[in-house]
Amino acid sequence: MSGNGKITVATTWLDGCSGCHMSFLDMDERLVDLAQHIDVVYSPLVDAKELPEHVDLGILEGSISNEEDLHKAREFRARCKLLISLGDCAVNGNVPAMRNPFKLDDVIERAYRENVDLNPQIPTEGVPALLALVQPIHGVVPIDIFVPGCPPHADAIHYVLTELIAGRTPDPGRVTRFGA
Ligand code: SF4
Repeated sequence: MSGNGKITVATTWLDGCSGCHMSFLDMDERLVDLAQHIDVVYSPLVDAKELPEHVDLGILEGSISNEEDLHKAREFRARCKLLISLGDCAVNGNVPAMRNPFKLDDVIERAYRENVDLNPQIPTEGVPALLALVQPIHGVVPIDIFVPGCPPHADAIHYVLTELIAGRTPDPGRVTRFGA
């Protein structure tokens, strides 16, 4: 809890398209009501860029594709009491995992050389190293709540948050399905 009694929430995106965060914003005016109960203490959606040591609720979008994703997921797990896996990329790998049937070297070659017309080169600095295989988040850290969908509907995110605020355990399976 924050000093004002609100539930502290941290969010980030791993290997995703940010669409799940856009769905969060699609809660529209309901965000005003939620703001009376939650404090977003770290997120791409707010200015705070330091993940606090102790957070009530962490929300992760995207899959684990590179070293930085792995580090962020472990950091969230260590610092958040409850962790939500948000969206199909987080829950089952979805689009990022489509590279898994191919060798990593072939994927890199295809992306940085074969499909590039101007100055093709494989970056060696400034980008995190790709992992050999893409994994859903629960492949690397335990997850408490799974919210599927690509992206999950804003109503589903609202349901999960309001249930948690009410002190209940949400059952996202009632309001979600994969791919929608
Ligand atoms: S689940 Fe869909 S909307 Fe969410 S990050 Fe993945 S591709 Fe984007």
